[in-house]
Amino acid sequence: MNEEFDLGNLGLDTSPETIFDLQRGFGADLIATLDYPLPNGIIEKEAKQRMERSIANAVATLKLLEKRDDNTTQIYVVLHGRNQDEIVWYIRKLIRAIHEQGVERPINGFAIGSLVPRRNSIPTIIDIVTAAKNEIKEQGFDKLPLHIFGIASELLPLLVYLGFDSFDTSTYAQMARNLAYIHPQDCKQHNIRKLSKLECNCIICKDISLRKIQAVLGSDVTHRKIKGMYKSECYAAVAVHNLILQLNTMAEIREALQADSLVDFILEFAEKHEKARVSLQYYTGLANTHLACAASRVHFTPIQKEIPQPSRIVSLNVSDNAFVLPVDYTPPRDKKMLLILPCSYEKPYTVSRSFKFVESHLKTNLNGNYDKVHIVFISGLFGPVPIEFVQQPPLTTYDYHLTTRNKSGIQRVSQRLRNYVLKHKSHYDSVFAYVTSKPYRIAVENLTKDAEIMILPPNTRRHSPHEFYKKENIYSLVDTISTNITDYE
Ligand SMILES: [Zn+2]
Repeated sequence: MNEEFDLGNLGLDTSPETIFDLQRGFGADLIATLDYPLPNGIIEKEAKQRMERSIANAVATLKLLEKRDDNTTQIYVVLHGRNQDEIVWYIRKLIRAIHEQGVERPINGFAIGSLVPRRNSIPTIIDIVTAAKNEIKEQGFDKLPLHIFGIASELLPLLVYLGFDSFDTSTYAQMARNLAYIHPQDCKQHNIRKLSKLECNCIICKDISLRKIQAVLGSDVTHRKIKGMYKSECYAAVAVHNLILQLNTMAEIREALQADSLVDFILEFAEKHEKARVSLQYYTGLANTHLACAASRVHFTPIQKEIPQPSRIVSLNVSDNAFVLPVDYTPPRDKKMLLILPCSYEKPYTVSRSFKFVESHLKTNLNGNYDKVHIVFISGLFGPVPIEFVQQPPLTTYDYHLTTRNKSGIQRVSQRLRNYVLKHKSHYDSVFAYVTSKPYRIAVENLTKDAEIMILPPNTRRHSPHEFYKKENIYSLVDTISTNITDYE
């Protein structure tokens, strides 16, 4: 997968045993078996392989505990499936494998994975978790605790009702990265810079001044205190506030359970939270439980239609040599200006928002000279990809995210880009790069000396995604290209 998270790079071999010992070494009391999550759109063969490896690892971990006579470690076996049939298949295959291999070490709990990539499809989540719960019961494990990986927030009350015991999430922190503050009243996300007041009594909000936070965030100063506060403290405050709201929900659920009023709590909660409402309405159509009957009698505020997720085929088993430019490749004859652009998550790159943004500005502002611009994308995995190739697999299927910590990846991209630019230098009159994202920027900056690239926007120090879309930045590109247009007539 992503090299940065490949423990092999840290000199660790990732066997069930080493991973188990690593988790033990961290001081874990509760350990989940080493697993391979299933991203959306993953090709069928890889999905099967990943599930089979996850199952094999679970069995191997149980065997290891048996061999070590370890009866105290709480071991949770991770379950995966992209839909209800698949998770049922998975559980049956797992239990069969445990029996066939004569493993007697008991399992202490189950944990459901692969839900995060499906979090935008509430029906899929509900289908998977209810199917898993039923099958676990069928197999005689209904006394064991159940954990859900990566899903919490608005689905919490219903998931507890469905029989799940524990949850983990990082959403509160991810939201804070975009300064998204969960409003305690309407429970929606608001950018803290745009709020007019904080209506929250949590330990964070009661002591901070919204005006001060907004002033600090609005300042151009970085890495220094402004009004006695670092910018990072504002992000942290939002994250902690968001987390507190989640913990409060958990506390309310526990209270409701004790008071035997979970159904009432879920109905009230659903009126306030749109996703909770979507999940409850979907569940009501499926089940014949006390909750489903109670919910069917409530008239809820209508739900806004869900936005369907774009789907594409994804492969994680793509090597960095899976795409190589033909040795006799030459850039198109009439395209004399090279423009290097970063790749995108969306494939082909040409459908991405970032590409369309650049394309539309150049088309509008270059007086017909856009035809002379040759776009070459920098793929974090393959290096340079001329626009003529973007429709070809594996360029349409790979999924790879180059990060700043991935030094060897940056070096690979840099080296390949350098080879491309030096090889085709005589073809182009000028070479530009428009790059804001830090790892890509480093990769391009590494080769400026002999490659003579004009890198834009100039002097960018911030690397947040919206730098790419800033007016002054895109105009710096338009202007630089305009002044370098050679008249070919
Ligand atoms: Zn608060």
